[in-house]
Amino acid sequence: MQVDTVLLKVASRCNIDCSYCYVYHQGDTNWQRMPKHMSLATVHDVIRQLATLYEDQQHPFAIVLHGGEPLLLPRNILSVLLQELSDRLPAFCCRAIQTNGILIDDDLLDLCLRTNTTLSVSLDGPADINDAFRIGFGGEGTHARAVAGIERVRRHPAGERILTGALCVVDPESEPQRVYEFFKSLAVPSVDFLFKDGNYAKLPPGKAAIDSTEYGKWLATLWDCYIGDPDPPRVRILDDFGRLLLGGASVKEGRGQGTFCIVVIDTDGTITKNDTLKSTYDGADRFERKWSVASDRLSEVAASSAFIESSQIQHPTSTVCQTCSLLSVCGGGMPLTRWHPETGLANPSVYCADYKLVIGHIRETLQWYR
Ligand code: SF4
Repeated sequence: MQVDTVLLKVASRCNIDCSYCYVYHQGDTNWQRMPKHMSLATVHDVIRQLATLYEDQQHPFAIVLHGGEPLLLPRNILSVLLQELSDRLPAFCCRAIQTNGILIDDDLLDLCLRTNTTLSVSLDGPADINDAFRIGFGGEGTHARAVAGIERVRRHPAGERILTGALCVVDPESEPQRVYEFFKSLAVPSVDFLFKDGNYAKLPPGKAAIDSTEYGKWLATLWDCYIGDPDPPRVRILDDFGRLLLGGASVKEGRGQGTFCIVVIDTDGTITKNDTLKSTYDGADRFERKWSVASDRLSEVAASSAFIESSQIQHPTSTVCQTCSLLSVCGGGMPLTRWHPETGLANPSVYCADYKLVIGHIRETLQWYR
């Protein structure tokens, strides 16, 4: 398999405490045993392995710094990481940081500019919506600090190049129009929307039953805002559904039938499965064999049967999904949302009814444009 994304978990802790977080609040405990951040030695191993991976596969891959909160990585180590990645990999191996925005400062922005690194900020909409879930350890809201971070980027002379967008976790009880208008007012070039994590043992917050459609209705209304807007930001999930309905491909896992090859590297250098699996059961993202960037070549890990098997779970095994007329668009949803404690992943997504609603709605409106 050719690696297309490398997720670097550079910090295992966070400076805020979002109630829905899959790292800390869904039952996985590995973060407690991880170093708080990558050491300089591990960062050097990561750089060496990524340079080798590019030599081996001669194909670009994206590198995303993730956490926890990735900006908790001490700045001297972050500088080494970003500078070395910039020096040793071609520019089309793009580098991005997914941050909550709170620790953005001008030095960081200068570093991003020097090393051709972009930022995406996690934020769930207007203050009342965001602060219902994205809170500090004392329960206080985080909205003002995140927006201050975004404004700091926009004041920077290269801010437009650095800020690529926002990442919003959907609260189905919120008004999609308000959330859409909020992101328009922030003038971010793109927004991606994620559904909250959940499975058959624990339904996602805001979803009353397996066959309820709160998230589907929310996203369908957002689509109406989007399609009616003459100057919209890019909205990745809606673009993906639209493209897939028109016969194209998605750019993200969890929809469509592509196979995304994602390597995750933890703060101690361990190579893990897709980290979103943490929300199913403790240790679900761990391989039986402990691979590490200290000793294992990433191209060899990606070629191993255990890694290929873990990537293939992107394709649903439930006969309900395999015979579904929407499979080519829906893709069965993210594997974590198919998980049941007794049947594992062999189920449709808990968001099945939501996907049917929103994909049907988008298909109907696209027909008007034919
Ligand atoms: S999750 Fe539902 S809509 Fe999606 S492919 Fe499976 S059965 Fe079809």
